[in-house]
Amino acid sequence: MTTVITGIGELVTNDPARREELAGQGGLLGLVRDAAVVIEGGRVAWVGPAADAPAADVQVDAGGRAVVPGFVDSHSHLVFAGDRSAEFEARMTGQPYTAGGIRTTVAATRAATDEQLTSHVARLVGEMRAQGTTSVEIKSGYGLSVHDEARSLAVARQFTEDTTFLGAHVVPAGTSAEDYVDLVTGPMLAAAAPHARWIDVFCEDGAFDVDQARTVLAAGSGSGLRGRLHANQLTYGGGVRLACEFGLVAVDHCTFLSDDDVAALADSGTIATLLPGVEFSTRQPYPDARRLLDAGVRVALASDCNPGSCFTSSMALCIALAVREMRMSPAEALHAATATGAAALDRDDVGVLAPGMAADLVLLDAPSYVHLAYRPGVPLVAGVWQAGRPVVAR
Ligand SMILES: [Zn+2]
Repeated sequence: MTTVITGIGELVTNDPARREELAGQGGLLGLVRDAAVVIEGGRVAWVGPAADAPAADVQVDAGGRAVVPGFVDSHSHLVFAGDRSAEFEARMTGQPYTAGGIRTTVAATRAATDEQLTSHVARLVGEMRAQGTTSVEIKSGYGLSVHDEARSLAVARQFTEDTTFLGAHVVPAGTSAEDYVDLVTGPMLAAAAPHARWIDVFCEDGAFDVDQARTVLAAGSGSGLRGRLHANQLTYGGGVRLACEFGLVAVDHCTFLSDDDVAALADSGTIATLLPGVEFSTRQPYPDARRLLDAGVRVALASDCNPGSCFTSSMALCIALAVREMRMSPAEALHAATATGAAALDRDDVGVLAPGMAADLVLLDAPSYVHLAYRPGVPLVAGVWQAGRPVVAR
């Protein structure tokens, strides 16, 4: 069966092949005006001017509204139980954020059944989908035992191929960092690896230092897991340079960066994934996206949806924050939340609307993608197709 979505006033393709047709912001996004998209078997079959669109079994009229690629949220922590709204309220009334709050969620996660964890992740993935996110990476990291990390990843695997083993999230109470790194790189890695594509470390004061992160990344690589890193969120440090040294596809947070860090990112091609919902929710300074972009660094945006430092699942909010607070243009922010998010997961099948790519599309109740930043907080998603199937319609 084929479906044609026609009457698209403004189509964002992110297709690099269209970049030269258009100058400036529209070029970055590969914009096509008065466009149509044909979907067949879960893939995009055709993209172009509506007047030239081939016939299809089903026709959907976008009514002049904008269509963008589904958001690719390359950083989330959805496998958890419990609630930390009290911690948030405390922080908003003057108490500083520290990484130790993770332990609260660990206790609740360990106490939850597999069924409870699964239904909780399903609810959050559905919440994301309703807001236009069609690809999501999901980390473990609230189990912190061999059994609980492995089952967290098994739960996550039901929802995405991009599962990330984050045993090295925080050192659990009653264990030394040295002993815990041995556990993470030994029996925990062995139990986690069958359920994971990636391995991640929270490289930060109060979590794991650069040498420990190096040990974990190397062990993961030995088990076939590709590395990612949480780095330079709360302080300057060596995490970003470690990511570049390892040639990681992405390093996430990048809030406190030296000139050497920026140069290393530009030289290595490692993507800086910025998570502005965290700075919003913790009242920290935002990362300087403009500085990174001007230095030639590729920038992705992701939600970091987690119960402690940022409990938003809204990529549109991240786009609005990136534009308002981080001096990204609306086009740069959307590109970062779609095509570069896909690149940060080393995915070449999503984030771009071109023939052969996954038919993951979002119909906005707006004439232009600019409304994602122009109308912050407004639910603009009027329809979502995931792998060609309509999954949200309102
Ligand atoms: Zn995170």
